[in-house]
Amino acid sequence: MKITFPYMGTYHIAFKMLIEGLGHEAIVPPKPSKKTLTYGTQNSPEFACLPFKILLGSYLEAIELGAEMVITSGGAGPCRAGYYGVLHQKILQDLGYDTKIVVMESPFRNIFDFLGKIRSVIGPSGVSWWTFGKVFRKAWEKLKVLDDIEFLSHQIRPFELKRGDTTNVFSKCLEIIDQAGTIPEINEVRVIAKKMLNDIPVDRSRQVLKVGIVGEIYVVLEPFANHDIEITLGEMGVLTHRSIYLSDWTRESTGYESTQKVIEVASPYIDELFGGHGIYSVGHSILYSKKGFDGVVQLAPFTCIPEIVAKPILNKVTQDYNIPVLTVFLDEQTGKAGLQTRLEAFVDLLAQKRDKLEGIAI
Ligand code: SF4
Repeated sequence: MKITFPYMGTYHIAFKMLIEGLGHEAIVPPKPSKKTLTYGTQNSPEFACLPFKILLGSYLEAIELGAEMVITSGGAGPCRAGYYGVLHQKILQDLGYDTKIVVMESPFRNIFDFLGKIRSVIGPSGVSWWTFGKVFRKAWEKLKVLDDIEFLSHQIRPFELKRGDTTNVFSKCLEIIDQAGTIPEINEVRVIAKKMLNDIPVDRSRQVLKVGIVGEIYVVLEPFANHDIEITLGEMGVLTHRSIYLSDWTRESTGYESTQKVIEVASPYIDELFGGHGIYSVGHSILYSKKGFDGVVQLAPFTCIPEIVAKPILNKVTQDYNIPVLTVFLDEQTGKAGLQTRLEAFVDLLAQKRDKLEGIAI
């Protein structure tokens, strides 16, 4: 079967390995682009959130490449993510496609539904549960390497001597990670890729600002959706720290890692989960302040209820913890140049604030 999946950051590399390991042909959707967004926007309800539109556009591009099935994740709580799969399926049907969308929900919501959906994927290719376990583990290891390497790239970029070096080396790292087929190979490329990044000429004496990135998961993880915000800030000499990586999210949704701490610190402001990553945007911003970060950028799809709820709470966090927060609402009208100008102004403000704290005349 020809199977596709959402394109999100670098994770298509691990998803491809998983699908191929299960005996199917992986249809990797093209990297999201203006064409993807146009496809998605033309076929979505006007007020659907940006991730919904980009994902729909991606599915349509993958269908053009022959995809017969889409595997995607679901969502729980008072937010539209839980309806994505159903609505995407309905739109594809209305457009005349019989592509099936399989929505994987957390096994802790309904273990039988979870296992049944895995069976519907592995059954047609005759793959055993044992093989599924082995392939899943390999893909999971690859996903963790992708996260590790991307995390490291954000630590190095603000110190690079030649602008663009980190981004170029990072792309090469992704190529070799993609080639790794076994767990020993994956472990080996982790070491090689880290060395490649650590070998980039840097100036460690630079005083860099530190900014945390919080917000809705898709726009935080997919550079097309956030206009390469981490690269833009990194090349301005800002060290960014992303509050979400997919290996965190996967661990959370399968119960391996508790997010209790983030929720606890947010609880004086809001003690209810209100969908998406809203409460985590609040909790992480507080934690960033406690860790001495200079500022926070909140990434929010336009009309995203959880991030809209989080925004006024973040204003209060700014007052209480003295940490500036820049909220960036993203939709199909958002332009890279306008965002760059806002980021430059925000970084100037953070630099002035730090100079004032350090008693440097400005
Ligand atoms: S978290 Fe926001 S962007 Fe994501 S599905 Fe929910 S409303 Fe849409």
